[in-house]
Amino acid sequence: MWYRLSIAFIIGLIFGSFLNVLIYRLPRRISIINPSRSFCPNCKAEIKWYDNIPVLSYILLSGKCRVCGWKIPIRYPIVELLTGLCFLLSFSFSNSTIEALTFSALAFSVILLTFVDLEFMMIPDTSVVLILVSGIIYSLINGSLLVNLITSITTFSILLLVRKLSKNGIGFGDVKLFGVSGFFLGPIGSIVAMMIASLSGIIFVIVPLFMKKIGLKTKIPFGPFLGWGIFVTVLLKPLIIRLFGF
Ligand SMILES: [Zn+2]
Repeated sequence: MWYRLSIAFIIGLIFGSFLNVLIYRLPRRISIINPSRSFCPNCKAEIKWYDNIPVLSYILLSGKCRVCGWKIPIRYPIVELLTGLCFLLSFSFSNSTIEALTFSALAFSVILLTFVDLEFMMIPDTSVVLILVSGIIYSLINGSLLVNLITSITTFSILLLVRKLSKNGIGFGDVKLFGVSGFFLGPIGSIVAMMIASLSGIIFVIVPLFMKKIGLKTKIPFGPFLGWGIFVTVLLKPLIIRLFGF
C-alpha cells in the first residue's frame, strides 16, 4: 500500500513539473514540444536536467536561476507538490488502478485550469478535453455512462441558460468545465460539487471584500472553485452516498 502510494506521489511530482510547462506555455501560445527543453523565462537559458528535478532543484538552487539569478516563482514547487499530493489522494480514494488514473487525470486538469484561470481569466480547453475523456472512461468502468451522459448534457444546458440570463455572468469555460464533469459526478455529485464551489467561492469573496482588499467590481475567476469542488466531490462520493443514503 505505502509502496504504491509513494510511487503515485513521485509520478505526481514529475507530472507537476510537466504541468508547470503547460501553465506557462498554453496561455502564451508557445508550443509544448518546441522548444522541447525547459528554459528560464527571464534569460531563455536552457535548464539542465539536474536543475529540473521537481522540488529538489528549487531547494538546491535556493529558488534562483543558475545562469541569471532570476527568482523562480514559488508557484513551481507548489504545483509539483500539489500534483504529487493529488495523485496520492487519487490512488488512496479509488477502487482500482484505472479509476485512480482517471482521478489523477481529473486532478491534473484542475491544477492546470486553476493556475491559468487565476492569471489569465480563462479555462484551457486542454483541461476540458482531458476531463471529458477521463470522465467517459470512469463512467464506462462504473457502468454509469448513460446516467452521466444525461447529467452532462443537463448541467451544460442549465449553465448555458444561466450564462445567457445573467448576460455572461459566468464564463463559457466554466459552462464547458461543469458540463463535462457530469461524467465523473452523476446527478447527485453535480449538485454537491456546485454547492461546494459556490459556498467556497462566496467565502473567498466575502473575506477580502470586508477587508477592502477587493471591490464589488473585481472580477474573480470561478474556475478554480468549480474545479476543486468537482475533485473533492469525486474523491468523497462513496462517503457522501453512505452518509446520505442516495
Ligand atoms: Zn535565467
